[in-house]
Amino acid sequence: MKTYGWTLLLAIATLATAQPQEPQKDKAELPTVIRAGMVIDGKSAQPRRDQVIIIRGNRIENVADAASAKIPPGATVIDLSKATVLPGLIDCHTHIFLQGEDPKQGGYDANILNAPLALRAARATVSARRALEQGFTTLRDVETEGAGYGDIGIKQAIDLGYIPGPRLFVSTRAISTTGGYPLEGYAPELDMPKGAQIVDGPVEARKAAREQLDHGADWIKVYMTHRSWVGKNGELVSQPTLTVDELRAIVDETHGWGKKVACHAYGGIGLHRALDGGCDSIEHGLDLDDAAISQMVKQGTWYVPTISVYYTDWSPADTPAGRRDRLRASLHEPSFRKAMKAGVKIAFGTDMGGIPWSEPIAQEFSRMTDLGMPPMEAIQSATSRAALLLEMEGKIGVVTPGAFADIIAVSGDPLRDIKTLENVQFVMKDGKVFKSLAGQDSNLK
Ligand SMILES: [Zn+2]
Repeated sequence: MKTYGWTLLLAIATLATAQPQEPQKDKAELPTVIRAGMVIDGKSAQPRRDQVIIIRGNRIENVADAASAKIPPGATVIDLSKATVLPGLIDCHTHIFLQGEDPKQGGYDANILNAPLALRAARATVSARRALEQGFTTLRDVETEGAGYGDIGIKQAIDLGYIPGPRLFVSTRAISTTGGYPLEGYAPELDMPKGAQIVDGPVEARKAAREQLDHGADWIKVYMTHRSWVGKNGELVSQPTLTVDELRAIVDETHGWGKKVACHAYGGIGLHRALDGGCDSIEHGLDLDDAAISQMVKQGTWYVPTISVYYTDWSPADTPAGRRDRLRASLHEPSFRKAMKAGVKIAFGTDMGGIPWSEPIAQEFSRMTDLGMPPMEAIQSATSRAALLLEMEGKIGVVTPGAFADIIAVSGDPLRDIKTLENVQFVMKDGKVFKSLAGQDSNLK
């Protein structure tokens, strides 16, 4: 199915662009050369100084020492000799169809109750552009929150060149159970729409996965926990949703299509069902016990911690929700530290959309380094490690020959000050400059 999808897309792209692009064909074959002051290639343990990156078409052709490199004739030279150059960044947990959901503007529910789908698509278009402006050239977008298959449409619009945006890996509607997702709190007589596809029983679960995969989901997203609250003994309790049998039906179906399953899970029963059912990545995992951590190591399960979002929008401290919000954050920190120490595979993710898209996506890097992750590892979690999660090893998340030319630059040294990644000044995606040091955008089309 993968081959079929790409062939179709490529065919459409060729049809759409064949005529106007024709005269520029020869020019497009001429290489672009980036002179880089320092390269953090996404994979190597150490940066390299004074490098030259040769790009032809949408791929990196060569990376070499500036002293010995030959600049090909006719090349366009981009001077980033005072900057640090990195691979385009990868956020493995976003929601382009959410916007922070300010309660004053109706919160989450207003999206589904009031917003026409075209408005949601327009806002998602802006979110995608914001991600690219900030140097995130790839997103794994983990569900549309009631906007159906809208992510498939945004992905096509980007791939066909209608709008600028990152490479998208999309998961469409997501899956949860009755009692496992909003809209909630309305009169029981009303049949309210839900932000995810609701299933009960393994048959419905498998059918939902089939539908989503059939419509083009790159990943399947499952909610394995839902509500959470402070328990009798001060512990965090997370309501489990799908049973192991329901999840196994989804995982079995999805793996059969050669795709993977991302599981939202905080802790407790739902987290353990997620691991027993064969989830490929645990999202949030803010209350990981030791047994879960060793099972993740054993099974090779990825951990996408999304730390920052749990520091936003805390309810007042003297309310049950406020106590829960603070407990979540306080459990997340030791969970992350223990997982890192045990060697759990960690990929960068933010839950942007839960955080307004006007905020810096790269704020998550500081959260990770504050909890003891070395800056180089934090960068790799958003480059070569994230590429592994997405099964795009060697194609994205690295500055190396053969990879797609997704390249960014910052003016400082992120190994000394990770916050420099919040101020990306140059963005190239697929060999085309989208944003330059001077801050002008180029025309992606
Ligand atoms: Zn999320």
